[in-house]
Amino acid sequence: MKITDVATTGYERVARCEDPVSGLRAMIAVHDTTLGPALGGLRMWPYRSWDEAQFDVLRLAKGMTYKSAVADTGLGGGKSVILGNPKTDKSEALFRAMGRFVDAFGGKYITAEDVGTSVEDMVLVRKETRWVTGLPRSMASSGDPSPWTALGVFLGIKACLEEAFGDGEMRGRTVALQGVGHVGAYLAEHLAKAGARLVVTDLSPERAKEVATRFGAQAVAPDAIYDVPCDVFSPNALGAVVNDDTIRRLRTKVVAGAANNVLLREEHGDRLREMGVLYAPDYVINAGGIINVSIEVESGGYDEGRSRRKVENIYGALKTVFRIAREKGVSTNRAANVLAEERIARGRKAAPVG
Ligand code: NAD
Repeated sequence: MKITDVATTGYERVARCEDPVSGLRAMIAVHDTTLGPALGGLRMWPYRSWDEAQFDVLRLAKGMTYKSAVADTGLGGGKSVILGNPKTDKSEALFRAMGRFVDAFGGKYITAEDVGTSVEDMVLVRKETRWVTGLPRSMASSGDPSPWTALGVFLGIKACLEEAFGDGEMRGRTVALQGVGHVGAYLAEHLAKAGARLVVTDLSPERAKEVATRFGAQAVAPDAIYDVPCDVFSPNALGAVVNDDTIRRLRTKVVAGAANNVLLREEHGDRLREMGVLYAPDYVINAGGIINVSIEVESGGYDEGRSRRKVENIYGALKTVFRIAREKGVSTNRAANVLAEERIARGRKAAPVG
């Protein structure tokens, strides 16, 4: 196995790994460990080149630093990627080699599942390193993050309603849910219980219909969701769904959901602000999963009650973001970045020199 460091400005350590025996080609990026070890998932994707993989891993690692800083997980930001097709290129040897690569970071980087990898893959990684989270609950780990992400989004929506309407009451409010997969379905349950009226869609019509039937919701076609008059538009499927085409169609007062990279570009957050639409920054409102995993890394190990209490802080984190946005006169996505950067800077000052 050959590990080669890649000097990268603004990152603590970036390395490539090539292992001809297992066929592993992978990268790990540690962006910042000021607030703790760098935790971030392992993505497997058929990248066409090392450059493409590096672009993605750097962007994602930095995103994790910001997400963890705002969520106050006591963690830094990092990410890893395997260059390969998750449908055809997986093997035990591949993930065990990845485990040895992770182990070479000596705990500075902690991995977890992500797009293209599964809990089963993490069990193989665990055979070679202890620096892995998100294993099955039967292994004293934190298990499926989706219910926690959904809880955080639900509480975040409450904070948004308070900010936008002066009252967090869900009864009588209409929420348009784009995507009712793992997170979306749990979220629908919370919202329905609280009395919200739901309009749902999913690429899978069966899934949309099933959730609609369970919660007395209306199901619409995937493209129609942008035109639904609602109080909250909740993206829980894909990224970049707030873009030049969709933004003028939205008939909502709030955008708040679990999807990552909801805004195509930061400027779309400015546009929402100009339109009087409150945006819950994605990495603030969808942090429930990472918060749940972070409890696993704490001394004493995983504790469900502690996880719940920390996920509940998402409500307060959003309120802080909204206050900063108001005070500075900026969009909420930019306010979230300000909050993250302030926390990292404070951590840097408090850190012992040397
Ligand atoms: P999932 O794959 O279980 O669900 C996504 C659902 O969206 C699927 O049912 C899919 O059919 C549907 N979908 C895809 N494209 C669509 C479209 N154009 N219109 C309507 N529906 C569409 O994924 P998930 O785990 O529920 O995650 C949802 C989103 O939240 C993802 O963007 C994910 O990155 C993000 N997220 C998830 C977690 C977590 O804990 N699972 C944590 C943070 C962020």
